[in-house]
Amino acid sequence: MKKVFIFLGPPGCGKGTQTDRLSKELNLPHIDTGSLLRENIKNETEFGKIAKGFIDKGQLVPIEVVESVINERISRPDCKDGYILDGFPRSIEQAEALKKMWENSAHKFSKDEKVAVYFDIPTDVLVERLVNRRSCPKCGKIYNLKSSVPKVEGKCDICSVELIQRKDDTRETALLRFETYDNETKPLLDFYKKEELLVQINANQGIDAVYAELKKVLND
Ligand code: AMP
Repeated sequence: MKKVFIFLGPPGCGKGTQTDRLSKELNLPHIDTGSLLRENIKNETEFGKIAKGFIDKGQLVPIEVVESVINERISRPDCKDGYILDGFPRSIEQAEALKKMWENSAHKFSKDEKVAVYFDIPTDVLVERLVNRRSCPKCGKIYNLKSSVPKVEGKCDICSVELIQRKDDTRETALLRFETYDNETKPLLDFYKKEELLVQINANQGIDAVYAELKKVLND
């Protein structure tokens, strides 16, 4: 049975939405690197101060910051039965760092208990998805102004608070994030193929269909 999940894919591929669902079903922590970094920015921590400039430019935050944040998070007691990594690793350097973290971690998992899932989707449909993305600052629920609209315009269905747009979801920064993805993150597909951990799903379908395919490949 899989316990440690790495979700890989371009920005806006839907891995956050799918992670949320899987984490609830399996009762495993959803570790969203982007959100952890944004929390550090909000709380004005030293890490947050470093991260801000990189996030605003659509670039990867330096490895020292991300590695510390992730290592601390996966060492917590709630990760003893597994966890889902959403947005980490994002480069070969980070994947190598994760291997080291696993070696030194108090929570050990066998190779059969780990999987890297690639959300395959053409990037041209994603820029539109990103610029139309809105989220609830309270519960984190994600909406899309075209395909997943809130019941009351601009308000979260669950919390009724005003939805927000991420600063880096503008068209200009989104394009830079795809460039970073192509240069830094895409090579991870070969990396995890060689590690024999990679499975691939078609992420260019509706949310329920993607989830069904995800569950199928995880059970195969
Ligand atoms: P996300 O919320 O996953 O789209 O991430 C938003 C931004 O956070 C990215 O564009 C990066 O600037 C930063 N970020 C998220 N995950 C990582 C990571 N693993 N390594 C470096 N920077 C990251």
